[in-house]
Amino acid sequence: MREPLDVVIIGAGPAGLAAAVYTGRARLNTLILEKGMPGGQILLTDLVENYPGFPEGVVPFQLMEDFRKHAEKFGAKIETDEAKKIQKQGDLWHVSGVKGEYPTRAVIIATGSVYRKLGLPGEAKLTGRGVSYCATCDGAFFKDKEVAVVGGGDNALTEALFLTKFCRAVKVIHRRDQFRSVKILQERIFANDKTEVLWDSVVEEISGED
Ligand SMILES: Cc1cc2nc3c(=O)[nH]c(=O)nc-3n(C[C@H](O)[C@H](O)[C@H](O)COP(=O)(O)OP(=O)(O)OC[C@H]3O[C@@H](n4cnc5c(N)ncnc54)[C@H](O)[C@@H]3O)c2cc1C
Repeated sequence: MREPLDVVIIGAGPAGLAAAVYTGRARLNTLILEKGMPGGQILLTDLVENYPGFPEGVVPFQLMEDFRKHAEKFGAKIETDEAKKIQKQGDLWHVSGVKGEYPTRAVIIATGSVYRKLGLPGEAKLTGRGVSYCATCDGAFFKDKEVAVVGGGDNALTEALFLTKFCRAVKVIHRRDQFRSVKILQERIFANDKTEVLWDSVVEEISGED
């Protein structure tokens, strides 16, 4: 059994790497477990335009490489492993990974979130290349373009209304003949000149080039 760590951070996305800068500066012996490539889901996009200090935008791979170096500069180590279980034993937590056991005094869970996918042909290939799950993150990339939002709940209509600030036209594609969202959002969608609703429509495939 290895010596107990001070902190195990699960996930080397932006949150996990940022946390490691703080734990490292606090001189806590820190290990980050990452099941994939350090950097997290921001690596799925080509350009980050909303990170302060980079008026021209920044390539996410470069940004995350700098996050990683920053965390390592203060002593954090990164290990490739997937955390499967966390158990409390006495004063310690035991993180069980696929490859090893990590006893630690504290655990920071920074595993991010996963967007619910439609599961359509073409969706994975075009994610970050026209398919997005976050209007506030990516809306500006679609300035003056015609876009489609799939769904009919509060989130879909909120995102659609947000996109009307940038986009030329916003089509809301909904599989039913009425929305599930709160009425006030529906009223705003119907009143907006840029929106059009396609009722009773189920998307079957997403196609396109880069
Ligand atoms: C296509 C796309 C474009 C985006 N564009 C922007 C943008 O321009 N600007 C912006 O601000 N935001 C953008 N975002 C959102 C941004 O990527 C997220 O807000 C951010 O990555 C969240 O960081 P996080 O560290 O919380 O989680 P994540 O980035 O999801 O990182 C979590 C990490 O934990 C790892 N992990 C999960 N479970 C385990 C486990 N059990 N064991 C070990 N490791 C584990 C994952 O592999 C992952 O690396 C975009 C997202 C996507 C998908």
